[in-house]
Amino acid sequence: MSDAGLVRAMNADLHCHSTVSDGWLLPGDVVRRAARNGVEVLALTDHDEVSGLDEAQAAAEAESLHLVNGVEISVSFLGETVHIVGLGIDYHDPALLAGLAQVRGGRDERARRMSEALAEVGIRGALEGARRFARNPELVSRAHFARHLVSTGLMPDVNTVFRHYLTKGKPGFVEHVWASLDEAVGWIRGAGGIAVVAHPARYRFSNAELEQLFDRFVACGGEGVEVVSGAHSDDDVARFATLARRRGLLASRASDFHGEHESPVDLGRCASLPPDLAPVWASLLR
Ligand code: AMP
Ligand code: MN
Ligand code: MN
Ligand code: MN
Repeated sequence: MSDAGLVRAMNADLHCHSTVSDGWLLPGDVVRRAARNGVEVLALTDHDEVSGLDEAQAAAEAESLHLVNGVEISVSFLGETVHIVGLGIDYHDPALLAGLAQVRGGRDERARRMSEALAEVGIRGALEGARRFARNPELVSRAHFARHLVSTGLMPDVNTVFRHYLTKGKPGFVEHVWASLDEAVGWIRGAGGIAVVAHPARYRFSNAELEQLFDRFVACGGEGVEVVSGAHSDDDVARFATLARRRGLLASRASDFHGEHESPVDLGRCASLPPDLAPVWASLLR
């Protein structure tokens, strides 16, 4: 096989979470689980946070696995939350760190407002409950609220909590302004990284809005898209493969693993990329 063929055939998983955001496993345990599952190139991409990367890199040294430094940045675009993954970043870059600190800084107030909104429908103490599930006090996510509501017995699983309480229009959802798309892509590029649109099938955009997202993303220097994602159906994969071809974007493969009992796809267990696409990890291994 050619070198390019060997790189393409690698088991890459370029999006997952640890306890530093809303994953269940410590950064080192994420790396060890990935290695056990046969992952050869892994990116740890915690929400708005890079503080797990030292531990993850230390763990990766003991495994036969290449760890890509990553992050998943929360962005507001056309009134929706969009996630932009940064891959191959210098995670000591001051502008990136300042930007992420600013994004995280909004989470506490948002969590308070979510808790107040839930109290209005009779669910008390949600903030304290969510905080018990958040290992990083700066990073209380909707996932922590969902886990708390499952633990109280109110709801059977986190998916059901999201459907009933935590998505737009539901009682525990509050509007929040995250980073702008230009800021997020700028921080990633400024830190030497490649910006990738995460799980594009998840956004509640019309086709025209989705095209606007990618127009703007490319205009500010974004280069990749998650074609294969733990959140994508086979039809979604085909749809975003077409988009990647049409726009000449690099393609990513990403489980978005959070934990064994919460994620549809385990680390390294995603489908393969369609063979004609350019794998983003080829640009990260150079
Ligand atoms: P936040 O960044 O606080 O808005 O939380 C977003 C996180 O909530 C995502 O990264 C997922 O971990 C989780 N999440 C979002 N939607 C769902 C869902 N439908 N089911 C389970 N988890 C979800
Ligand atoms: Mn998450
Ligand atoms: Mn995401
Ligand atoms: Mn994610």
